[in-house]
Amino acid sequence: MRLLYTKCPACFDIGGGGLLTRFEVIATEAIFYACDQCESAWPEYEPISINYFNVITGILLENGIPIEHHKGAFREAFDDTGFILKGEELRGILYGLMAADNKTKINDPIYPSIWLVDCRRIIGINGETKVALILNRAETYILDAQPVKEV
Ligand SMILES: [Zn+2]
Repeated sequence: MRLLYTKCPACFDIGGGGLLTRFEVIATEAIFYACDQCESAWPEYEPISINYFNVITGILLENGIPIEHHKGAFREAFDDTGFILKGEELRGILYGLMAADNKTKINDPIYPSIWLVDCRRIIGINGETKVALILNRAETYILDAQPVKEV
């Protein structure tokens, strides 16, 4: 299992507290990671570290997208490799789970907004029936999700 979340190397430890979300440039299908707090961004092929980072605008320009077309040029792209469902179908399920009552907070020492939801059916490719939802701090959208057995 990968880590439940990736701290932003640019801002997390200096008070920003940002976590990374996975995005896709729609026109090129290029994947990048961006911070939910400071807009630092890393293309998928670069190591996520303070030694190299860009911003979302820079990544879109590198993908050949002129600045006047940046709005709507990228979208969330959950890492769905561990899930049975994929893409938009998975996104719909996850947002349904986010609204569910039967979720419990995961007691994480660093990040407060992680929830465990019992899906009561198999959702992961290894038989997992639970999902960890990593939400933004205001808990209005999903930063990341992955199927889990136990936490
Ligand atoms: Zn950041």
